[in-house]
Amino acid sequence: MGRTVGHQAGKQRPIAQDVVAIVNDVLAQAIAAGASDVHFEPTAGDLTVKFRLDGLLDEMERLPKILAEKVITRLKVMGGLLTYRNDIPQEGRIATAASTGAGRVLDLRLAVFPTIHGQRAVVRVFYEEPALAELDKLGLPPGILARLKQIAAGCQGVLLLTGPAGSGKSTTLAALLRYMVASQGGRSIVALEDPVERHIQGVTQVQIPPQGEMDFPRALRSLLRQDPEVLMIGEIRDAETARIVVEAGLTGHLLLSTLHSGTPAGALLRLLEMGVEPYQVTSAIGAVVSQRLPRMLCQRCRTRDSAGAWRAAGCGECFNSGYRGRTLLAEMVQLDADLRKAVLAKTDLEEMEAMLGRRGHMTLAHNGRRLLAEGVTTQAELDRVCGTGSS
Ligand SMILES: [Zn+2]
Repeated sequence: MGRTVGHQAGKQRPIAQDVVAIVNDVLAQAIAAGASDVHFEPTAGDLTVKFRLDGLLDEMERLPKILAEKVITRLKVMGGLLTYRNDIPQEGRIATAASTGAGRVLDLRLAVFPTIHGQRAVVRVFYEEPALAELDKLGLPPGILARLKQIAAGCQGVLLLTGPAGSGKSTTLAALLRYMVASQGGRSIVALEDPVERHIQGVTQVQIPPQGEMDFPRALRSLLRQDPEVLMIGEIRDAETARIVVEAGLTGHLLLSTLHSGTPAGALLRLLEMGVEPYQVTSAIGAVVSQRLPRMLCQRCRTRDSAGAWRAAGCGECFNSGYRGRTLLAEMVQLDADLRKAVLAKTDLEEMEAMLGRRGHMTLAHNGRRLLAEGVTTQAELDRVCGTGSS
């Protein structure tokens, strides 16, 4: 990713600036820019500072090599880690008020890892984002939004969200749960997550620790005996969880979960690969939503080319990337008679997608056209998030 801005833009730190001030300044800058992660990467010649902005890593600054160890040590002190251990990975939390004073930051998590050039540190920033919390404000196409609300009001079946890591699936799930709590109080809603990313009032949230004794299948099986009406499972990662989710969806529970897959059809086939019986898939799965988070064009510097298409340019406000913020792009597949037949026949992916195409299914690419026409994002960005083969 060659959007080098920080150091090329002439970032000169005062020689006498102490390490505490440098670290505070870098973190404050990252938070002001809305970065989700701050990387401190040791190289042979320096300590490179990168921000993850709207999903992409951007180099911001190169700190002199002689400061590298001091900067990492300072971070470890802030994160309550063992400063004398440089040979093991460590994870901790940085008290937010101490470093930044920023009220909109929920949590700062630090992870350090030894490399051949010294320790590498990554600070992950969790923001309080009220705008993202409401289902109506996610930017879903009206048809999908309406259908999601119907599903949320139902009392059984499985709703699956798919998409690569970082495509906002858990934000959508959280918004759905909030919507359920607000619109139909009194339901018993339980969420199993690894980790619990945000607190949702009115939902019983359970954290499933990695490598713990209580794994997803075990927790799920025992929860089903506690009379829940709605269950949210952070992610279906294994065959056993997949089977329990589907069975629960068939026996009077509403289940919401995510599955790592490129397309809705791919998600259905993935369940079959995990050993779920075709008839269970067709009777339990109500709908599959696939989503991505394309970056939005910076409204200040976007331009049109000679053909009238919107293009990214770059200005001070968008760190010269041409983009600022992200928007939601989604598609939804509902199981109807034809699709059920295809699943029962264990049709392959290509054929299933061809069938959806013949029925006029609105893919991510179709739904993205509105964003192009309105100058919200670019074709290049849609291609990047959708990957090949999804148009
Ligand atoms: Zn700009």
